Amino acid sequence: MSAPPYRHFTQIGDPVLRQRAEEVPPEDIDSREINQIIDGMVKVLRHYDCVGVAAPQVGIPLRIIVMEFREGKQEQFKPEIYEERKMSILPLAVFINPELEIISSQVNKHPEGCMSVRGYSAEVERYDKVRIRGIGKLGTPSEMELEGWNARIAQHEVDHLNGTIYMDRMDLSTFNCILWEQINAAEGRSAIWFHK
Ligand SMILES: [Zn+2]
Repeated sequence: MSAPPYRHFTQIGDPVLRQRAEEVPPEDIDSREINQIIDGMVKVLRHYDCVGVAAPQVGIPLRIIVMEFREGKQEQFKPEIYEERKMSILPLAVFINPELEIISSQVNKHPEGCMSVRGYSAEVERYDKVRIRGIGKLGTPSEMELEGWNARIAQHEVDHLNGTIYMDRMDLSTFNCILWEQINAAEGRSAIWFHK
C-alpha cells in the first residue's frame, strides 16, 4: 500500500482535503523530509501537466504549495481564451506557509477545475490581483504579486490549505463533466482517469 506523499492526486472525500493544513515548523523548513515532499509535488505537477499542487493533494496536511504556468502551455489554449482569462507564464513558485492578500476588488469569472475533483469543471469568481508571501523555495522570492490566471491559481491552491475546494465557491449552474460530449459520442464508453 502506498503512503503519502503520493504520486497521484487525492480525491474529494479524502479527509485530508477538508482539514486545515498545519504550518511547517521553522526548524523543519530546510529538512530532508520537507525538501522531499516539495520535490515530489513538483514531479506530480509536471507529470500531470497542471498549474498548481497543494500538499494535501498528495496526502500531506502541511501548508506547502507549488505553482507553475510553464512556457509552452500557452499552446494548449486558443489565443482568445489565453487572452480572455489573462493567462501568462509563471515560473515555478514554491511557498511554505503562504499568506494571501487580495490587492484588487476586481473579480474575474472563468471555468476552473481541480485535479482532486477529476473530470469536472465550473465557473468560479476569483480576485484579479493578489500578493502572496511566505517562505520561498527553489529560488522563489518571499513575496510575489500575481494577476489574472496566476492570481486564480494562488487563490485555488491556498484554499486547499484551508480545506476549501473550488466547488465551495463555484456557480453551481455551470458545474459540468468535461467529458459529457465524448460520453455521448462513445455511447457511454468513456472513463475518467486518476493516473497518467
Ligand atoms: Zn485543486
